Amino acid sequence: MENSIEEIEAEALQELAAAAGKDEIQELSVTYLGRKGKLTRFLRNISNLPPDKRPDAGKSANILKKRLEEAFKSAFEKMDLAEAHRIEAIDVSLPGRPVPLGTLHPITQIIREICAIFQKLGFDIAEGPEVESDYYNFEALNIPKNHPARDMQDTFYVSENIVLRTHTSPLQVRMMEKQKPPVRIVAPGKVYRCDSDITHTPMFHQVEGLLVDQDISFGDLKGVLTAFVQQIFDEQTSLRFRPSFFPFTEPSAEVDILCVMCRGKGCRVCSQTGWLEVLGSGMVHPAVFENVGYDISRYTGFAFGMGVERITMLKYGIDDIRKFFENDYRFLKQF
Ligand SMILES: [Zn+2]
Repeated sequence: MENSIEEIEAEALQELAAAAGKDEIQELSVTYLGRKGKLTRFLRNISNLPPDKRPDAGKSANILKKRLEEAFKSAFEKMDLAEAHRIEAIDVSLPGRPVPLGTLHPITQIIREICAIFQKLGFDIAEGPEVESDYYNFEALNIPKNHPARDMQDTFYVSENIVLRTHTSPLQVRMMEKQKPPVRIVAPGKVYRCDSDITHTPMFHQVEGLLVDQDISFGDLKGVLTAFVQQIFDEQTSLRFRPSFFPFTEPSAEVDILCVMCRGKGCRVCSQTGWLEVLGSGMVHPAVFENVGYDISRYTGFAFGMGVERITMLKYGIDDIRKFFENDYRFLKQF
């Protein structure tokens, strides 16, 4: 006998503990359990032992064989596991994945731009409720119940006397109730109408403006709106004031700008007219002043309103209003 069974076991386990990879474990397995392996040789030599020693030697050799087979197998599995961990582990030398950076929504950007222009002209910013009473949304603005002008706006009614505001104009009344002239405000906000197609969404944004003081004339209205339009579009933008009707202003005018797409030649966007409507405006109707208790012999004023989506679409050449509300990152990141 070259080695005792205990010596073989001690040696095998020591070498296994030092094995650095699957190849080395495989080699050890051959060294001990292979056809010419140490343990195999021991088993083969048992027949040379004295007969009374053979059963014990055989028994302990078989136990060791099983034990070593299991030890090699579990060492192998540990190596597999370690390898899997190595693959999953974080490689700190890899460059990081860029986190996409959000931007302000184009509507938010244009609202801020509009407000900034009017703030430079001396206007304050005002805000009010989106769920509004019939009184502020209609009646105080000279639109009594059953007035045909109510058909101009497809209203969401919450109850008989509560509506989702159809325009930002109720802010005019709320502000005038709170303060005496002079009043100079712009009121940005969400408004709601039952309408949905390529140019209408049930919720959209308006900016309302109101200026009330002594000796305010239509000339002031034209001056302020011209200054605004030429700042939000560009200084070369021509405007025209076209007579119109709103129940809460008299006289009323719609403001058109020379088409930003074709510069007046006529195209699909301006329906071949060369002009684009961007604002509604007019001198505040005396009935509105009477509703808030202003002295109509002393004060005059003008009001105007615009759709923010429309301004944004014209400024950036966007052809479908629904794009603003689809949250498509590819669209939004362009602004
Ligand atoms: Zn055009």
